[in-house]
Amino acid sequence: MTVWDEVVGQERPVGPLRAAIDDPGSMTHAWLITGPPGSGRSYAARAFAAALQCERGGCGECRECTTAIAGSHADVTLVATEKVTIAISEVRDLISLAATSPSRGRWRVIVVEDADRMAERTSNVLLKSIEEPPPRTVWVLCAPSPQDVAVTIRSRCRVVGLRTPDPEDVARLLTARDGTDPALALECALAAQSHIGVARRLARDPEARARRDQVLALATDIRGVGDAIFAAADLVEVAETDAKAATEERDAEERAQLMATLGVEDGTRIAPALRAQLRQLEEDQKRRATRHKRDVFDRAITDLMSLYRDVVIVQTGATVRLVNVAHEGHIRDLAARTALADTMRCLDALGTARERLAGNVAPLLALEAMALELRPRTPARR
Ligand SMILES: [Zn+2]
Repeated sequence: MTVWDEVVGQERPVGPLRAAIDDPGSMTHAWLITGPPGSGRSYAARAFAAALQCERGGCGECRECTTAIAGSHADVTLVATEKVTIAISEVRDLISLAATSPSRGRWRVIVVEDADRMAERTSNVLLKSIEEPPPRTVWVLCAPSPQDVAVTIRSRCRVVGLRTPDPEDVARLLTARDGTDPALALECALAAQSHIGVARRLARDPEARARRDQVLALATDIRGVGDAIFAAADLVEVAETDAKAATEERDAEERAQLMATLGVEDGTRIAPALRAQLRQLEEDQKRRATRHKRDVFDRAITDLMSLYRDVVIVQTGATVRLVNVAHEGHIRDLAARTALADTMRCLDALGTARERLAGNVAPLLALEAMALELRPRTPARR
């Protein structure tokens, strides 16, 4: 399996990247890989980095390939941020790094995974290095769409636009890479709406599937005001547990690491001059937890929307495949006992909740309002 085999469903978009490997004449020093979330942007960037370092153009087996993919290659720098923006100081450091020759590899590759998170001033700092990079340096920026990156930057990059892969492609990847049973792989790929990361988590983790089922059950379980209030509280709790599980261990590790760097032993008094650094770390960690919770809510809303869209498909008799094939029974039931107008109202309520959450409304309030709207209004009809 070469590194390109795992960039699923993107044969055409990645063509220019592969051509640049095969023919040095078509090499470019600045690339912008775009694509919707879950389309595999960051994986494509790492595959390209591996192929650049590999003597066989990305065999997927040699040390160059495996370390580049894993993010531990000495000459491949992966920059991913969990902050709202990439700091200008980070970009300055990258530019200094870009000016140096690769230590053992053939290229110095710098992958910026969230290039959309750069303020304009930061972009301007980066611009010069992208315009005139040292001969063996390659910049690979990733963003959801070209419009998410400053026009000055994107006009100097070659743009590789990934698309949402077909669920079949994603399913094949899950089966090939993780040995997932093909039927389960397709079910998860459909449920994740082709988001590779989400599909993979669903396929590997029965608890994640159970949590998703629980969220979808809201559509049929909410009958009265009490159910709605409970459902909203449940969602908040699920998000908090999830965020805690995802961040706790890492937070403690980072703290221990910082303490060691500062030469402070745990339990002793921290000098005031060092306290600011610790406070900064705590703030970053808090922001990360908040973002994680937000992602969990967003995922829950996306899942519910996919269910109501399935209901719309049944209600309008469209010949489109359902996203939630495993829930077909519930979907048909809901479609039979509600009207299309109700389904549209529920979809609206979900959209509004998403906007409110993005606009910093307290999650419980936004979710309660949403859950109340999901209650059935019209009496049963056929
Ligand atoms: Zn290789």
